[in-house]
Amino acid sequence: MDDKALSTHLQTLLRAQGLSAFEAPVRDVIAVAWRRSAPKQTVSRLGSLHALQPGTGRTPRPKILLAAHMDKIGLMVTQVIDGFCRVAEIGGLDPRILPGQPFIILGREPVPAVVILPPAALLPPDRKADAARLQDLWLDTGLPAAEAARLIRIGDPAAFAQQPVVLANERITGPSLDDRAGIAALTVCLEELAARPHRWDMIAAATVQEEETLGGAATSAFAVKPDLAVAVDVTFAAGPGLPEHKTFPIAEGPTIGIGPNAHPAMVRAFEQAAGKAGIKYALEVMPANSGTDAIALQITAEGIPTAVIGIPLRYMHSAVETVALADVRQTGRLLAEMAGALDDKFLPDLKWE
Ligand SMILES: [Zn+2]
Repeated sequence: MDDKALSTHLQTLLRAQGLSAFEAPVRDVIAVAWRRSAPKQTVSRLGSLHALQPGTGRTPRPKILLAAHMDKIGLMVTQVIDGFCRVAEIGGLDPRILPGQPFIILGREPVPAVVILPPAALLPPDRKADAARLQDLWLDTGLPAAEAARLIRIGDPAAFAQQPVVLANERITGPSLDDRAGIAALTVCLEELAARPHRWDMIAAATVQEEETLGGAATSAFAVKPDLAVAVDVTFAAGPGLPEHKTFPIAEGPTIGIGPNAHPAMVRAFEQAAGKAGIKYALEVMPANSGTDAIALQITAEGIPTAVIGIPLRYMHSAVETVALADVRQTGRLLAEMAGALDDKFLPDLKWE
């Protein structure tokens, strides 16, 4: 997959719907993209997609599960009054970035809307400078009351309507790069591994509900019962005004998480794979819960040795999340290098130390 094809693939993922607990549309897109290199696919009871790429080692073969979440953040309609909707958030949404955003309500049919808040001039003087609060924000559809009642029901999801934009320097911006960038990295990994023999079975998973419950990762790990698992998600990229020690440079490769969610032997395996393939990376300190699928993968059954790989991303949980295409590719390459290097000794030698 060359850069142009990867960019197109990622933009197709960004255009696909699939808020947390409503992932079916994006799952269909991913299933088609992964079919070329991993045609044996299943869907879990909660809706996660699993794609198997068989290894060449003796059966029963050890398995590694590489998981990225396909759900995305957005809003949910809680009340319809005339043509206006009150909303709750799906996933963590910062109300400061919502006013003025175009949305699409996914009701009986798609309904365009904009997020409005009262003009400052009409607010009491002591509230003029307040940051926007979700309870003050409405979606305005412009619809007459009867038509709004026909098309929109409470519980309908609403997604950012912002379309992906390619910025200079192969930067891609748009909503849901968290974690569709991770899905695209898995696509790269699957294609790399399809082209070379690898001993372990590799299962790529597009998990559901990461933004809300981690229920996709927990149930996928239980269904697949892998020997090792990796959560591939986005992390904070450096940018103007941000603390350097909490962010990672963009276009300089993925991060390898270290901390309680990351098994030390897997961290070493990723560092070795990166060194061998000449892939730049940064270590990311995660002293507590990594805030990714890793926590659910890791504590399934009697525990699954897990790693956390991050793709630096700017403006997380906004409509203009931004990644460097090169980081998506290098993340996919790193996953393929690590998974492809797993041999018959890795598990017997595995100790947490
Ligand atoms: Zn994420």
